[in-house]
Amino acid sequence: MSKGLYDMEIIRTLKQLNEKLANVQSKSVGFVPTMGALHNGHLSLIEKARIENDLLVVSIFVNPSQFGPNEDLKTYPRQEGADLKLIELIDVDFVFIPEVSEIYPREMGMEITPIKRTAVLCGQTRPTHFAGVAMILIKLFNLVQPTRAYFGLKDAQQFAVIDLFVTDLNIPVEIIGLPTVRNQRGLALSSRNAYLSEIAYNQAHQIHAALLAGHKEIKNYTFERIKLIILDDLSKRINAKVEYVEILSYPELEDINELSEQIIIAVAIVYESARLIDNIIIHSDGTLAQEIRRNIQ
Ligand code: AMP
Repeated sequence: MSKGLYDMEIIRTLKQLNEKLANVQSKSVGFVPTMGALHNGHLSLIEKARIENDLLVVSIFVNPSQFGPNEDLKTYPRQEGADLKLIELIDVDFVFIPEVSEIYPREMGMEITPIKRTAVLCGQTRPTHFAGVAMILIKLFNLVQPTRAYFGLKDAQQFAVIDLFVTDLNIPVEIIGLPTVRNQRGLALSSRNAYLSEIAYNQAHQIHAALLAGHKEIKNYTFERIKLIILDDLSKRINAKVEYVEILSYPELEDINELSEQIIIAVAIVYESARLIDNIIIHSDGTLAQEIRRNIQ
């Protein structure tokens, strides 16, 4: 148990979590799941959750099942001390930091496989990623039983998949997607930005600039043309490999040729050893989406 600015409690076991939450059943519980290496993007979710709920639970867990075999599970930044210092500045009630063996005490005997919204965008190069995300979030939702759970729209495909399984499995939680927090130049904050060299870090905001260039023309050209404009912009501005530039309906993530409903323009690039993603979500009237709420109850 740590005493910072607020009375935040660190919880490491399922047993402790159950005991603590058993006493707060009548209150609204806000939940922010994270993998740590916290930055202002995470803090924006935590602050929003604080305002909207009586009790606030933040989890820090680098979930092995969402990493592919050649991905950065081993090197993913882990900095519990620094994370707790940041969280202590906000009035968080419980920080749940379980060991892997606590969440996965034995080899799983089942899988959860979202079959929609996962074959496109990051699902093409990360075929098992969203199954791992669904697995950990269903576990965490069952353990924490939150009233509301908060996510960043920076990971918009992730939010679309969460929207899918929460709806299909009737999970009684309101999910809230909040806008991407960026640095002053427009680079989306990400724990993986730590992998960038100084030169790359100083160029990476061009991804957002290219997305905005696409948004500017969204009503003037076909989506095929808009994608080319963004690709062209990216290749001129930044020396990185573009993995995809896509325009799809959102959150369905299906092919779409006109702005008849909400869309996403999503980009992934591989820059040095970092794989960076970014997106903008555009309403059918052409304005940028800020916050998305889904409450199936
Ligand atoms: P992670 O620790 O990367 O799993 O992220 C935990 C949560 O923080 C996820 O819901 C992310 O979408 C969200 N998040 C990460 N980066 C940002 C950002 N720049 N702005 C807003 N939310 C973010």
